[in-house]
Amino acid sequence: MERIAVNGVSKVYATRDRPVVALQDICFTIEAGQFVAVVGPSGCGKSTLLKILIGLVKASRGEARLNGTAVAGPRRDIGVVFQSPVLFPWRTVLENILLPVDVLRLGRNALKTRAMDLLTLVGLQGFEHRYPHELSGGMQQRAAMVRALIHDPAILFMDEPFGALDAMTREQMNMQLQHIWLERKETVLFITHSIPEAVFLADRVLVMTPRPGQIVDDVVVELGRPRA
Ligand code: ADP
Ligand code: ADP
Repeated sequence: MERIAVNGVSKVYATRDRPVVALQDICFTIEAGQFVAVVGPSGCGKSTLLKILIGLVKASRGEARLNGTAVAGPRRDIGVVFQSPVLFPWRTVLENILLPVDVLRLGRNALKTRAMDLLTLVGLQGFEHRYPHELSGGMQQRAAMVRALIHDPAILFMDEPFGALDAMTREQMNMQLQHIWLERKETVLFITHSIPEAVFLADRVLVMTPRPGQIVDDVVVELGRPRA
């Protein structure tokens, strides 16, 4: 089944001097269970593409569909992890993770168990009652990852999720993410400017170039990841 279908999507930003073509005629589909990285230099339109897919930016032309329905505003079948963890400082780790549960009016008790399972999976067991400032940057980002997964989304979007972390932590996070993915087999769209990171994590890499933002390559990764 197609989780993501992007058909002829273009985005032109109106600016004060001249229009900026951020994306031009983007077409691709992603099947359920694929881990796809989008890689390219700064300014090639990666963030714009992600924002269109999660409903934060409207495409100028073309259409994006998730799970068979057109993107229209926020939806409950996706999870998103941004570059900075965006945890609420006055809520504990567990309360941060259960936030979508309250917003989506899901059953708190069942998902509490799930939250604890996911926290264990990312090595944060014992930290559920701590506050974000008591955690390192990498731990905060892992908590944000758990929050993005708590409602069992069909698609996980990640926009440079480890970009703000030091090299060592970044490496550890990549291992963690691979571990979670092998366990759960989510459909993942992972944005990065790092080719090694893309090749390590993904089983398929979409390569973009700027001015205008286009997909110039679509590569299946044969090596780099142990298959479960
Ligand atoms: P990336 O995430 O790959 O760095 P972006 O999607 O952020 O790329 O940007 C693609 C292009 O669109 C860049 O030239 C950027 O300057 C431009 N751009 C992004 N957002 C806006 C905006 N809100 N208004 C005008 N131009 C924008
Ligand atoms: P990143 O690549 O880390 O996502 P961006 O370079 O896209 O960061 O810029 C951050 C913010 O600035 C975004 O919200 C984007 O929409 C906006 N932006 C980027 N380029 C422009 C631009 N040329 N004009 C106006 N806003 C822009």
